[in-house]
Amino acid sequence: MRKKIVAGNWKMNNDLAETEMFLVELKKQVFPENVVLMLAPPFTNLNHAFKSLREHNVEIAAQNMHQSNDGAFTGEISAKMLKSVGAKTVIVGHSERRAIFNEDNAVLAEKVNTALENEMTIIFCIGEELEDRKKENHFKLVKTQLEEGLFHVSNDSWESIIIAYEPVWAIGTGETASPEQAQEMHKFIRKTIAENYSKAIAEKVSILYGGSVKPDNAAEIFGQDDVDGGLIGGASLQVDSFMKIVNSF
Ligand code: PEP
Repeated sequence: MRKKIVAGNWKMNNDLAETEMFLVELKKQVFPENVVLMLAPPFTNLNHAFKSLREHNVEIAAQNMHQSNDGAFTGEISAKMLKSVGAKTVIVGHSERRAIFNEDNAVLAEKVNTALENEMTIIFCIGEELEDRKKENHFKLVKTQLEEGLFHVSNDSWESIIIAYEPVWAIGTGETASPEQAQEMHKFIRKTIAENYSKAIAEKVSILYGGSVKPDNAAEIFGQDDVDGGLIGGASLQVDSFMKIVNSF
């Protein structure tokens, strides 16, 4: 059985006091046993969140990392540093990193390697822009993102990989892919993994959907055969909406 996962990506939101307020509220909740919960606060709050949630079955993820293990990279954070503060998982290739910080498939492939070397779990994000979809180029683009960013990894590495399909036109826009559009792409991603690796590996990998998931649309999206959960931005900033989504399976 594939893991069901809901991961909250806070992006550049919540300072230490706001994080603490969220955590106090979160710890009052009852977490479903069949869902893995993850939270990706900003770097500055990773350790605080890790210590606070240690007893609560919520994993801590980082939103990004540098591809080098150390060195003269002012302002950057390494995998080793992330692990030392409790983040075992890292988001790689979020569309905002790709678009705003010019991270291309080649650099993302390096980040994947470094994360794996450091025994981290990766949430690898892929997804097309609206223009790609209008031109019906979305399957090809997603396939290229997989081939160039991820498909160099070994069979064993798939134990540490989660995919997040996030159509860029649906992120933070209030516009969601329909459940059918999400299912169609998730099925395609799984088929592509099966063709490049094996059916057994493809059947085991969790593929999350991201893009304006809210309490009122989560159940329908999560109900699709190949959707194993969500990467949640805006709606993960409030405990109430985050928990409603977590409880949508
Ligand atoms: C995201 O940041 O990965 C995301 C999906 O954001 P939102 O849920 O706000 O669209």
